[in-house]
Amino acid sequence: MSKRAFNFNAGPAALPLEVLERAQAEFVDYRNTGMSIMEMSHRGAVYEAVHNEAQERLLSLLGNPSGYKVLFIQGGASTQFAMIPMNFLGQGHAANYVMTGSWADKALKEAKLIGETHVAASSEESKYMSLPKLADIQLSDNAAYLHLTSNETIEGTQFKDFPDTGAVPLICDMSSDILSRPFDLRRFGMVYAGAQKNLGPSGVAVVIVREDLITDSPKHLPTMLRYNTYLKNNSLYNTPPSFGIYMINEVLKWIEEKGGLAGVQDMNRKKAALIYDAIDNSGGFYRGCVNPDSRSDMNITFRLETEELEKEFVKASEKEGFVGLKGHRSVGGLRASVYNAVPYESCKALVDFMEHFKNNR
Ligand SMILES: *Cc1c(COP(=O)(O)O)cnc(C)c1O
Repeated sequence: MSKRAFNFNAGPAALPLEVLERAQAEFVDYRNTGMSIMEMSHRGAVYEAVHNEAQERLLSLLGNPSGYKVLFIQGGASTQFAMIPMNFLGQGHAANYVMTGSWADKALKEAKLIGETHVAASSEESKYMSLPKLADIQLSDNAAYLHLTSNETIEGTQFKDFPDTGAVPLICDMSSDILSRPFDLRRFGMVYAGAQKNLGPSGVAVVIVREDLITDSPKHLPTMLRYNTYLKNNSLYNTPPSFGIYMINEVLKWIEEKGGLAGVQDMNRKKAALIYDAIDNSGGFYRGCVNPDSRSDMNITFRLETEELEKEFVKASEKEGFVGLKGHRSVGGLRASVYNAVPYESCKALVDFMEHFKNNR
């Protein structure tokens, strides 16, 4: 078997080795069809079974609450930033946003292009190193929806709980922590995620939405930008990113095998605790960026005393087979992204390396 890197990439990110190997085994000849899943019609029974299975599996992992549909949409989570206000922000209403960091900011910017917006809470004052308290979220009177980013991938924060927004739909960008832990879908009008962090390869965004919210998309919108189009056509109005959806289905099977969302949460907590402990017990050599009560179990951000030292750390880590530990270019520092598929062994190797680096300089 080929050697696998200790992959801490932020996205696209590590996929489960078992999934890659199964995909490899079926790559050239998918279940005796004589072709790859990539080579067959998206209108045929073989592909459609995979497509439907992925949707069913996803809802099943979330406990099958009634009234929700799974859509597959291209253009990544970033296109959702625009589609959300286009579809849900009507005249006389304001799109409400919780400002938690870089991705929330991008989502808000798109909404501003479409209509009126309102910042319902913000942690900008802390440079986004802590999250706003749920009790401090102030909706505007005419809120069309409240948008929240469950996990800020760049800063490394993660909500542990979600606000109760009553009749106002709660819409959540879960790109970097979807299916990393159990959550109650019934509290959300819609959740969405670009696949390339916790679900599969890039090229598809998964949208899980309450059907009643999208039965009537605004008629002036282009067909491909109306949620309604995806609902009516089971996300097969045009050619879907079929290989990506097949991969998502395989990742979902893997999550089931790991004990579902409770099972992966257990793994994720152990991995994150291992690394945060190494940071906190380093006598100040490593410094966590985020306030402990807002820390993410998916993206662990930390710093060293100087940028010089951080550069040295990254360079030395690369020599030892680690990938992706450099922080995002917008904030600097260091970041270990430990999504579902990053094995505990990689995290153990990382803390061993951190210890070694600390003691040998
Ligand atoms: C990566 C990421 C995005 C952007 O996803 P694309 O699929 O590249 O558009 C949006 N939100 C969050 C929280 C992310 O981590």
